[in-house]
Amino acid sequence: MRATRWVVGLGIALALVSPTAAQAAAFPVNPGPAVAGRTIIGSGQNLPPISNSTYNVGSYMAPQVEAYYTGQAIQRDRSDVALAAWRFVRDWTRDRCGAAPEQVRDCKAMVVFDVDETLLNSYTYSLAQDPQFTFNPTTWTEYVDSCGYSSIPQTRDLFNRVKKLGVSIALVSSGNRDTKASMVSCLNARGIDGWDRYIMRGDKDPAASSAEYKALARESLKRDGFTIVASVGDQVSDMSYGHLKRGFLMPNTMYYIH
Ligand SMILES: [Mg+2]
Repeated sequence: MRATRWVVGLGIALALVSPTAAQAAAFPVNPGPAVAGRTIIGSGQNLPPISNSTYNVGSYMAPQVEAYYTGQAIQRDRSDVALAAWRFVRDWTRDRCGAAPEQVRDCKAMVVFDVDETLLNSYTYSLAQDPQFTFNPTTWTEYVDSCGYSSIPQTRDLFNRVKKLGVSIALVSSGNRDTKASMVSCLNARGIDGWDRYIMRGDKDPAASSAEYKALARESLKRDGFTIVASVGDQVSDMSYGHLKRGFLMPNTMYYIH
């Protein structure tokens, strides 16, 4: 949950790992051993792990972050990562399950989606804070409860396309269970519904990192017989420690979650 983020304002590079960033908007990135050898496809527009802490980029980088979020680059990056995810899931399910939706359903192929900055966009929240791109639990709760989010059409379309393919869908979020009703209603209002599972962190394992909690959530889905073909998120912690075939990392230059 964002409440645990540390607020910092550091002049840090926005590129995670992007040797070919100038040539392609979606390519394999290597965030290190936490991804357990799984391939992660991203755009390079993610914050680096400056320590084992969650943090917000802060006002120092506000002009650069604003330029990225209001320009065409983020739209291109989201489209390219979503397209790569679509192609991978389509091909995997066709090869392993069959082409008919009922075959894919029976095969229990699953895609896991994160929510914040993956299916819903809270840029207007971070932009409006004082200082900009910091976090305040009070204003955050108000934002969630009033559905201040906008949609991210690229991931909404991906969600709907894989659902049509017969793929099962789980939402796995670090959000507190108290906000679940607000989140469900906001997702529906932004054109997203029909998921199979919605797992929220709640109060369990407060000491566990988001990466650890999400890996345990995927493990529990595997125990229920699902094969997690892809995990789509905006943080490396959405796809760390295995229990997935491939990760797809949407851009987020506003905050980092451990
Ligand atoms: Mg997120």
